[in-house]
This record gives sequence, C-alpha cells and structure tokens, in this order.
Amino acid sequence: MSIRVRFAPSPTGALHIGGIRTALYNYLLARKHGGTFVLRIEDTDQLRFVPGAEAYIINALTWCGLIPDEGVGFGGEYGPYRQSERKDIYGPFIQQLLDNGMAYHAFDTAEELETLREQLRAEGHSSFQYDASTRMRMRNSLSLDATEVADLLEAGVPYTVRLRINSGEKVMVNDLIRGEVTFNTDELDDKVLVKSDGMPTYHLANVVDDHLMRITHVIRGEEWLPSAGHHVLIYRAFGWSDTAPSFSHLPLILKPDGGGKLSKRDGLRLGIPVFPLGWVGNTPEDSFTGFREEGFDPKALLNFLALLGWSSGTDQEIFSIAELTELFSLDRINKSGARFDYEKAKWFNQQYLMHTPNEVLADLVRPIAAEHGHTPDAAWLARFCGLMKERVTVLPDFWTKGSFLFQSPDTYDAATIAKKWKPEMSTLFGALPEVFRSATEAADIETAVKAAITEHQFKLGDVMPLLRIALAGSMQGPGVFDMAALLGSEVAAERIEKFLTKM
Ligand code: GLU
Repeated sequence: MSIRVRFAPSPTGALHIGGIRTALYNYLLARKHGGTFVLRIEDTDQLRFVPGAEAYIINALTWCGLIPDEGVGFGGEYGPYRQSERKDIYGPFIQQLLDNGMAYHAFDTAEELETLREQLRAEGHSSFQYDASTRMRMRNSLSLDATEVADLLEAGVPYTVRLRINSGEKVMVNDLIRGEVTFNTDELDDKVLVKSDGMPTYHLANVVDDHLMRITHVIRGEEWLPSAGHHVLIYRAFGWSDTAPSFSHLPLILKPDGGGKLSKRDGLRLGIPVFPLGWVGNTPEDSFTGFREEGFDPKALLNFLALLGWSSGTDQEIFSIAELTELFSLDRINKSGARFDYEKAKWFNQQYLMHTPNEVLADLVRPIAAEHGHTPDAAWLARFCGLMKERVTVLPDFWTKGSFLFQSPDTYDAATIAKKWKPEMSTLFGALPEVFRSATEAADIETAVKAAITEHQFKLGDVMPLLRIALAGSMQGPGVFDMAALLGSEVAAERIEKFLTKM
C-alpha cells in the first residue's frame, strides 16, 4: 500500500505557522515512504472564505519547498482538489446515508432550535445538543411521519442533513500519537452533514474526500481530535471502516510566554512573526509580517518547526530536509504542546546563515544592498558576506550590522573615544593612512600597522579600538584588518584621515 497524505487547509485567512508544521509532517511522511503529498482546499464554508487565502497557502508551501505532488495548482488524478468544485460528487454519498438510515433530514428553524434550548434549560439541563436524547422533540425525518416528511421535501422547505448517532455506544479513535482515544456517543451531537444551502459541511466533505482520494494517514492539528469521533462514525456509516485512514493529531503550538495555543494576536502582541509570509488584510490588526519578510531562510524555519513537536531522540538540532525525511516517524511526535520560542527560531536561522556559502548569501544580500543604493560587484559582496555571516541572525542584519562597510560612518563611539583618545596620538594617526596604503592583504596591513603603533610607542590595546571606530564607527564588526582589506587600503586610509579630522 503506498502512503497518501493530505494537507487540507481552509482558505479562511493567512496560513498560521502551525499549518506549515502540519504540512511539513505530512510531507516528510510521504517523502520517507515514497508516497504522495496532496494539497486539498477545504472551502465548503462560504461564510469564512477569504479571497487571496488560497494563493497565500500555495505561495507559502512553495516558499518553504513543501511542493505537493497533487492538489490545487499541482494537478493529479483525484481532482478536483477544491471542495467547492466537488459539490456534485457529494450528492450520491449523502443519498447513500439517507437511504441506509445513517442520516436524516432536519427541518428545524433557528427559532425552533432556540425554543427547545430554552425548554431544556427550564427543565434543568445545562446544555443542549441535537442527539438521540433530544431529536424526537424536533422536526426531522425520524420524529415526523413519512408523508409529512415527503410533503416538506416536496414543498422545498429548507433542511439540513444530520448524522444519526446511537446513544450509549463507544467509539474509538486509534491515534498513532496518542493511542486509543475513546468517545462515548452520548457526548457526540448528530452532526450536520449538509447545510441548508446544500453545501456539505467540513465533516462530510473531509471524510468523503479522504476516502475518494485514498488517503492512508490523516495528520492534522490537535484541535481536530474532538471531531475524530464523528469522523470514525461517518466512515462506519458508509461501510468504509476497513479502508479508513489512520489518525495522528499533532500537539498544539503554545504561546511563547504562557499557556494556551499560539494565535495570530500573539504575533502582534509580541512583535514576532507567526506566519510564513506577510499578509495584508483589511485592517492593521489583520496584517502581519512573515518569516520571509523577517529574513529567514525557509530551510531554517522548517528545521525549527520539525523540532516543534517531534524529536529525533538525539541531541542533534540541525537537520537538512533529507535527514529529516530519513529520520522522521510519527511515533516520535510528542503528545504535549510545544512552546513557540522565537529566539530559538532565530538561532536556527543564524546557524543556517553561518553555513551558507558566501556566494549564495551574496545573491540574497544583493537586493538589500540595492535598496540602499549600493551595487557592489559579486566578488566583493561574497567577501562581505563571508566576514559578516557569523555576526548576523536574519538577512536584514547584513545591512543593519554591516552598512558601515558600504558607506563611511558619520558618527563615532564617543564613550570609547573619551576613554582611549589622547591628543599625542595625532602623529600616529597622521602616519597611519600611508601605512594602510602600503599593503592590500589583511595580514600585510596588520604587520605594517602594528609596527607603526609600536614605533610611535603606543599600546595596541589603546590604539586598536580607535582604529576600529575610525573604520566602522562603533566597536562592532569583523576583525579590524579584515575590514580594512575588504574596504581596500585606499578607502581605509581615507576613513582614518576623516577620523583624525574629527578628533
Ligand atoms: N480544513 C481543516 C483545517 O482547516 C482540515 C482538518 C483536517 O486536516 O482534517 O484545518
């Protein structure tokens, strides 16, 4: 049996980072077993449909490199993969459940449901659900006689179709992460399978599609665990239990600073990205920056997400996608929630940047430099990246922490100058530009400059900080002589001259 998994988001807005983790785990399982990774768009809820959300999902998966084998935008034999285009497919399946008595028509209006809710409250029931204990007090094809039902259908009275769930039974979900999760059917309501507008609900469409698309493993967020009992009953109602997929419900991703599930509001509140890509909504509260915009390498993001809920069983933290594919298994997914630690995400990115070849980084940094009006040649930019890459966390840091290598600093670290500068150093600093001009390689500049400092009878520890400030403006940056070599001896010399004038 070949493994077929699906990522089945609803296009209700930007795809949260948890969605990318779900997609990643599906992808890894498929890749590991030579299986198929399907993208299905679950858009049966027209009220929650958000234009642009589907394109966002596809762009986000593509940016991360989680390319579906089949699905909306990717072709495949089991399409259409957008549920709104599958309405006709669901019809006969709904009829099958109505015919075999596993589902029934319900004609209750919203007011009637409210009235019954009130009555039950008056009778002392704390909650109300449409189920075996209440359905005979409602207007449906189980409580009404057959002719009345026929008349109502004939007259075109709106109805929903509900799943008929027997009371007092146990339903077991065999979750590959959590083990057996048992529901008592008394806790499960007669779920609506078809809404009054004729659209199937998520529950029906999800099960029918997983069946028709021959999905073998359902891997999704923990928030869907309560629905899994219903899903098992729907498979049973269709007589599909033998071929039903296995279930794996992934642990929640928790807020960085407290309990509860990470939400998009946490991103705004803490000023951190919780989406893969930026999203511009109708309001500022609905507009977000993404990991891409913050300058993350998607591979680092995936590495971070892989370990947010899964562990290899070793201390290793840096994994390529190929390694993850080899090592991944559902039984190493944790049951408990994983805290979203943005600092850790940045650490992963830093590790990735450090190990990315200079030439590759140069291609990524070039547009940032261009934004600031600089168009250095490729070799220089690669050297620049090589010097800076151990000092940056995200891509924009190449500019924020390294802009002084593109343009001369205009301000100098006053505190250090106050501590180190002595007027008698003027002669030395007056001589240094020529010394810089005498060499080009970092090592040669170093030998010449150090000789000059000793000759003028100053201590290296007093002069070096000032040289650094002359070149970089601050105490930050790569080694002084590396910087000088990168700038070129002429530019370095000019910076020393400018510094001396200011002194
Ligand atoms: N459409 C559901 C969602 O938006 C999919 C849940 C599932 O994978 O079954 O998450």
